[in-house]
Amino acid sequence: MRQFRQYPIYVSGNTLTEQEIKAEIERRLKNYDNELKTNPKLRAQVEKDLRESKQKYGKAYDYRRDHIKEYGKYDSPEPAYPSDKDRYLEAIRPDKSPKAAQYENKIIEQLETIHKTEIGKLVFDSFNPKKQLWITLLEGKEQSDCKCFAQVDEAPVKDHVQMKYPMPVANSSSRWFRTKGEDILFHELVHAYRQTFGFNIVDWYQEQGEYILVEEFVATLFQNIYLSCIGEQQFYRYSKIQMRVLSKKDYYDYLGSNVETFRTLKFFLEKEPLSIKVARWASPTFNPLRDYSIIKTIFYNNIRKK
Ligand SMILES: [Zn+2]
Repeated sequence: MRQFRQYPIYVSGNTLTEQEIKAEIERRLKNYDNELKTNPKLRAQVEKDLRESKQKYGKAYDYRRDHIKEYGKYDSPEPAYPSDKDRYLEAIRPDKSPKAAQYENKIIEQLETIHKTEIGKLVFDSFNPKKQLWITLLEGKEQSDCKCFAQVDEAPVKDHVQMKYPMPVANSSSRWFRTKGEDILFHELVHAYRQTFGFNIVDWYQEQGEYILVEEFVATLFQNIYLSCIGEQQFYRYSKIQMRVLSKKDYYDYLGSNVETFRTLKFFLEKEPLSIKVARWASPTFNPLRDYSIIKTIFYNNIRKK
């Protein structure tokens, strides 16, 4: 476990591996078999159920074994093993293994890179000091669930926010990667910062045609400002259909040609604390918050043309 500077941000590479989870389920199935041998009442009930299921479905099926596999207990669908809390407590428990250290060092290194930029430092300085953010290793099956490479949510411990984030891989072969991955980590930090204040529970423009959620609009906007801070000239445009990169000019044209994105930008300029600050900055080159009046002109010119 490592803390990032003086911030309430902690990184932990500990995790329950799929093998550990499998071993625990095996252990519980074995316990169940032993209990069947020593508990005549349970055995009688199971035999009755097996007979019934054979009559009804033509197959003797013991649902208890599936319950153990799925929930950890044969007689109750709850609590699940490992429960969300079990997993979380394991994920933040200090782990001295080289694998955990490798993850922690890599994430800290990327946080340091982000901290060097003006926008990065602003986000770090804006975290809610009453909350703790835990960045924990996301691996295995879970990875396929997420839409933007990670999952950020309230943790099952009071005042904790958890960001499940995979081991960063610098994939220079992909044309989408503009950095060694730290802009993606930064995108997730924007979600996490907002989660520490509960800002991300805004139901304003929740379902957009262009973005999946308004939350993605703001995280992507800040991610692009980050890219501009490090000198990049191409910016991400996430959409439901496919991700694209655009030049600053094309990006501003796009913001001014789509009523949803234009109005969302206005909303953030009025209501979102970081956006209000960034709108006053002279830098970087790509800053739609500062350049709102330019985008507004584009927007009204488009209306006139129509
Ligand atoms: Zn996102």
